[in-house]
Amino acid sequence: MSLPEGFLSALDAAVEDVSTDPVALAAAALDRSGVVPESPPSVLVRPVTVDEVRETLRLASHYVVPVVPRGGGSGVAGAAVAGPGQVVLDVSGLDQIKEIDAVDQIAIVGPGVVTATLEAAAGRVGLRYAPDPASAAISTIGGNIATNAGGLRCVKYGVTRDAVLGLDVVLADGTLLSTGRQTLKGVAGLDLTSLFVGSEGTLGVVVGATLRLRPLPEQTLTVAAAFSDVEAAARACAAVAAARREPSMLELLDERTLRVVDRAQGTTYSQRGGALVIAQADGPAAGLEITAIAEVLGKEATWVEQGVDEESSARLVEARRLALPSIEAFGSVLIEDICVPRSRLAEAFRRVAEIGDRHGVRIYSFAHAGDGNLHPLVGYPRGPVPAGVVAAGDEIFGLALELGGTVTGEHGVGLLKRDWLAREIGPEALAVHRTLKAALDPVGILNPGKGY
Ligand SMILES: Cc1cc2nc3c(=O)[nH]c(=O)nc-3n(C[C@H](O)[C@H](O)[C@H](O)COP(=O)(O)OP(=O)(O)OC[C@H]3O[C@@H](n4cnc5c(N)ncnc54)[C@H](O)[C@@H]3O)c2cc1C
Repeated sequence: MSLPEGFLSALDAAVEDVSTDPVALAAAALDRSGVVPESPPSVLVRPVTVDEVRETLRLASHYVVPVVPRGGGSGVAGAAVAGPGQVVLDVSGLDQIKEIDAVDQIAIVGPGVVTATLEAAAGRVGLRYAPDPASAAISTIGGNIATNAGGLRCVKYGVTRDAVLGLDVVLADGTLLSTGRQTLKGVAGLDLTSLFVGSEGTLGVVVGATLRLRPLPEQTLTVAAAFSDVEAAARACAAVAAARREPSMLELLDERTLRVVDRAQGTTYSQRGGALVIAQADGPAAGLEITAIAEVLGKEATWVEQGVDEESSARLVEARRLALPSIEAFGSVLIEDICVPRSRLAEAFRRVAEIGDRHGVRIYSFAHAGDGNLHPLVGYPRGPVPAGVVAAGDEIFGLALELGGTVTGEHGVGLLKRDWLAREIGPEALAVHRTLKAALDPVGILNPGKGY
């Protein structure tokens, strides 16, 4: 698909780094979803200033050229996938940590800052950026904001939205908008900051963020417990919530996941039981909290072990950290990301397994159980996605809605869950989404076709 006449030369004159190199374009076309566009995008723009972002969008609106914002390209929903006739706007070069204020406990950063880099910088002054996606080493703060990313610590500290106080956003016509504030409280006006969080680059391009930091806990303690089966483990996780305990992490792995970890890593987790729960507690009351959590888990567990120091705690968490790489060592997976009320987690696990059996596919399930956020990974041999895998994935989405949940807890909608979003939110909410989009991006250049 060709670009409008004059667009490329105008872009070239306004922005330093504009590329049409086929190798660079091929790399910028993809995220980690496995979605492959019919052909690569037409232009890759790598701005290093906010003005360059503004100029790119102003020209794109003027010439009506679609723009796909991009951070680390680690998304798994196809939201950063770009095709022919489109511009990829890679903002990973805006990667400055401008300020970390230990008194106000905030960080002011560019969108291209890698999540783990911010966490390390905050750690040097005794603070922490709480959202911790497992992709922290490869994802950016801008991408985390655009997908409202979650992670293991969300059960206590909330998702990305809970850490964003204010944003600088370039709108489709190049206008620079500032939302929110640098204070922890503030209720003036509509909550425009939240509107942009999770909008997957469809409403504006994040070029700056003011983020809330938290004190780095002086201690984090861990307990792991094995159960006879995954339903017993899920019931125990629900019991932790019902007992009003406050874990800083509560993860669950099913038997198939434990077996594949053992196979890949030479470990023996699956010998302890048919499912594993790993919980952490942090802060000054961590000792009391982890003992209380261990007691609740112990009621139905077949094996319980508490970490006594950092090293033994890290060992207990290892199975969770190794789950995805171990599964991927033996083939491809479709990564699902449903979230159900915690009280229905046991039922969700059971019915996901039934779906796998019905379609003759292998499903590995692990969960941020404290949030009810279940990741069923539907495995298949390397190559094209078999029909049974897609059909199983669709049934899993249907199950999430039936159980009163959502089709995505943290990965976003992108291209993959577009139809399901419409089913989840209904026609009225969908119409409001589109009205907001039309108000902020009247020409429709920002990441068209994604989300809604
Ligand atoms: C191994 C692995 C583990 C993962 N673990 C987790 C996890 O634990 N939790 C979780 O939530 N996700 C996880 N993910 C998914 C992914 O890392 C997140 O969605 C992440 O937030 C994407 O960030 P990114 O910088 O890579 O964004 P990209 O993939 O580049 O983009 C994602 C979306 O954000 C938009 N975007 C990017 N930057 C901007 C910007 N500055 N302004 C506006 N829009 C923008 C893009 O257009 C796109 O819609 C994982 C992925 C992998 C590969």
